[in-house]
Amino acid sequence: MASLTGAKYPPNLDDGLEKDNLAQAIKDWSIAHGLAVRPPPVIGGDDPHGILAMNAPVTLFPSPFPRSCFEEAKSIQTTYNALYASISRDAGFLGELVQEIAGGDDFITNLWDVYLRVKREGYVQTLDLGLFRSDYMVHQDGDALQIKQVEFNTIASSFGGLSGQTSLLHEHLAQNIYPLLKDSHALPPLDLPVNESAKGLAAGLKAAFDAYGKSELGHPTCVLFLVQGGERNVFDQRHLEYALQSSSSNIPVFRLPFSEILERTSIEDSSPKRQLLYHLPTNPAKVFEAVVVYLRAGYGPGDYPDASAWEARYQIERSAAIACPSVLTQLAGMKKVQQVLATPEGNGAAPTALRRFIPLQEEAQLNGLLRTFTNIFPLDSTPAGQEARRLATDSEQCKKYVMKPQREGGGNNFYRIAIPAHLKTIPEEHWGSYILMELITPPPLTNTILRNGELEQGGVICELGIYGTCLWDQTTGHILHNEEAGYLLRTKGDQSEEGGVAAGFGCMDSVTLV
Ligand code: ADP
Ligand code: MG
Ligand code: MG
Repeated sequence: MASLTGAKYPPNLDDGLEKDNLAQAIKDWSIAHGLAVRPPPVIGGDDPHGILAMNAPVTLFPSPFPRSCFEEAKSIQTTYNALYASISRDAGFLGELVQEIAGGDDFITNLWDVYLRVKREGYVQTLDLGLFRSDYMVHQDGDALQIKQVEFNTIASSFGGLSGQTSLLHEHLAQNIYPLLKDSHALPPLDLPVNESAKGLAAGLKAAFDAYGKSELGHPTCVLFLVQGGERNVFDQRHLEYALQSSSSNIPVFRLPFSEILERTSIEDSSPKRQLLYHLPTNPAKVFEAVVVYLRAGYGPGDYPDASAWEARYQIERSAAIACPSVLTQLAGMKKVQQVLATPEGNGAAPTALRRFIPLQEEAQLNGLLRTFTNIFPLDSTPAGQEARRLATDSEQCKKYVMKPQREGGGNNFYRIAIPAHLKTIPEEHWGSYILMELITPPPLTNTILRNGELEQGGVICELGIYGTCLWDQTTGHILHNEEAGYLLRTKGDQSEEGGVAAGFGCMDSVTLV
């Protein structure tokens, strides 16, 4: 690490021409290669025809990342995929956790109810697809560097489309632009791993598409991307779509706003198989059988403004389409699950919940997972929860922690002294719907971020995400596909608590291995 965190890397650029030149190269390459987002909506509408794109925020240089940490994160991904497939199959385990947080969290209760409704009538599709992303930060303990998991995403894991493009951008700069910098002789050789995240995620979708097989009703088959209205991160999603439509697979993909599910889809009544039919808006007589439904929406309460939105989710869940994810797989991604996996039962023994999902003979896998855990505590009324409540409400102790509700998408957590302040606003019997997690403090790095055309230079914190794709049978547990699928590096200013790019805190980055 040391060689790349010194004054030489990333290099100090001359203010003015040199910085402008590099920024200009990034601006143009990004638009030319779809490393872009839609502009934010402006009241009155600056883009009434929806034709504008702008650069995704990005670092000027790839950030140094310890090779051993990067390799460890990649190599454990298929174990994580299989672990979360097992968790998703264990409705008893998930149901207990849902009960524990239900009082303080209607959203989770409503999701669980969708599962129960479909279970009562019987699931017609037993295959489940996960497009996962496991997120880490590097934790420094003395000289030792170790990846620690921030969270595991089981729904709408984003930026797989843009992250591959960011790797390509930095490779382009390394070959063509950095050598022209004034102190380029001081630049260390960069080691930029190949990152085919869009291809990897598309391969997961294709595995599910192929496993479903042909339409028995004689319709053409398709993949649906369920999206949010007004989505700005649309090119990220399009990269996956284009990878699916490439000449080797050529799979029809349609983008369907979550709010239009009931209008555009129906379930085939004449068949007990409950095929999901998609009716083209431009030509409603043209019907496709939707065989995979990929959710880039539906992960938070905002997408369920009324009862009909829940009916829409129920329609997807009870249909024959392979949902990515199903309700149980989405629930497996609750922060509560991560906490229960990480909390040891007394005297430092391996967490019992983890033992439940990892076969006894797989000791190496178990230890590999344990190495990536950091301390996470419940905030319930158990002895461990009582101790955590004491830490969370202490004005000094709380500074080591982040408190998280069961939410996705960024911007939902409480940090340090905001923890006791927030706890004061909720009844104590609902504290159990949050978890308390030790803050991971990565080694200090610097970089420059190009955001909205402005350069921000300073200390940064990097978060590595590893994508994984998994297709399994909920009933038998048979795994049909299990792959690691590329990576994401997100970087934020070290004064910012949150790191989400879409939430406006972080930016795209790539690794140079050191
Ligand atoms: P979300 O599902 O909303 O993305 P996360 O658990 O990833 O929630 O938290 C959001 C952000 O908060 C992360 O991207 C990271 O920047 C920061 N964060 C979360 N947990 C920790 C932690 N234990 N240590 C340091 N930062 C954290
Ligand atoms: Mg998340
Ligand atoms: Mg996150």
